[in-house]
Amino acid sequence: MQPLCEFCLITEDITAAEVVDHIKSHKGDLELFYDSLNLQSLCKHCHDSAKQMIDRGKKVVTYGVDGYPIEMG
Ligand SMILES: [Zn+2]
Repeated sequence: MQPLCEFCLITEDITAAEVVDHIKSHKGDLELFYDSLNLQSLCKHCHDSAKQMIDRGKKVVTYGVDGYPIEMG
């Protein structure tokens, strides 16, 4: 696992990851729960903000260092 928050890294922010997040919410599905490809490291801030919106089906767009919008999630 990444020691740094993957959402923050998109904008080249270096933030220590505090939460292991399931990219697709597992909803009790053990296969998804243990699938290491379904895991990402996030800081608490990203997990509680951007990730919550993605889980609710909202589009979250950030801007990369090159100025282009990047869809997250
Ligand atoms: Zn973050």
